[in-house]
Amino acid sequence: MGNCLSYGNGCCMCILRCPAFGPRVSVSQKAGVTDIMGKRKDGAWGAFSGSGKLEKGSLSEEIQQLLNEKGVAVIPLPAKDVSKEKLNLKVCQQYALDEYAENIVLLDTGYAKIMTPFFPLEKLREVPGLENARYADPYAGGKGNSIRYLSVAERDDYMKVSGIENLLCGGEKSGLFVGHTEAITTGSLAGYNGARYLKGLKPMELPRQLATGDLISYANERLKTQEGLMTRYTFAGAEYFERMKERNLYSTDAEEITGRVERVGLTGIYNEKII
Ligand SMILES: Cc1cc2nc3c(=O)[nH]c(=O)nc-3n(C[C@H](O)[C@H](O)[C@H](O)COP(=O)(O)OP(=O)(O)OC[C@H]3O[C@@H](n4cnc5c(N)ncnc54)[C@H](O)[C@@H]3O)c2cc1C
Repeated sequence: MGNCLSYGNGCCMCILRCPAFGPRVSVSQKAGVTDIMGKRKDGAWGAFSGSGKLEKGSLSEEIQQLLNEKGVAVIPLPAKDVSKEKLNLKVCQQYALDEYAENIVLLDTGYAKIMTPFFPLEKLREVPGLENARYADPYAGGKGNSIRYLSVAERDDYMKVSGIENLLCGGEKSGLFVGHTEAITTGSLAGYNGARYLKGLKPMELPRQLATGDLISYANERLKTQEGLMTRYTFAGAEYFERMKERNLYSTDAEEITGRVERVGLTGIYNEKII
């Protein structure tokens, strides 16, 4: 909650529920090291989460039908309500495109996921079909959203926190990563190396011939620069996606990817029983 008061628009009652359970605590700082803080394009610390959830039943029948049938609804905004500055506030740089400022973009996730960090409720309710729109998460999504990337641990490419012998990290804690796939890939390596550590084995590093290995090393290098602190790293778009394409790492061909993993001798590596 303190982070959102200091670096955001105040507590907006998000899923983290700090008022009930207490603010976020950094395990790495507690263990004695100093965390890295991400920045926004204007140099402010942290970044706003880039989306919220509307109660689908609070939207017009027509929008609900669009979401149920097509999974997406794009509703143009009047020019006076377009705020391109908001694109620079958000975590998800892959969606920091003009179209997301010029329209209300809704995705069907069971709820109606609204692809903007926050949107004043009284303005939202001026949009046709959204007259009764209600935020489900964050409850006060009309005023703000959660602030993230304020306690990234410095780490090596084995996912071990620098300066602490027995602490490993993954996901958003381990870099300015955004996304579930990024959390899974970094977290799997951290877990694997955690088990190796307990067995007294040398940790494993993923090679740069694999997109996962490249992402882990590249994001680490970039964290050492001011510009790198303002960037988010994801397979889903923005800077890292361009790099994947340039390096021929981007592919949706499962066979090709399986072949790559085989060539670096890592097929089934996580199936290996260590403990
Ligand atoms: C609104 C929103 C929409 C998103 N949409 C998408 C999407 O569509 N696709 C996508 O790929 N990604 C999306 N993301 C991003 C994605 O959710 C995150 O990048 C991902 O969940 C990060 O995983 P993580 O494990 O690093 O962190 P988290 O999922 O945040 O998990 C960290 C966990 O650690 C716990 N924790 C923190 N501190 C402590 C402590 N001191 N002690 C014990 N526990 C602690 C937290 O309570 C939390 O459960 C979205 C994020 C948000 C906020």
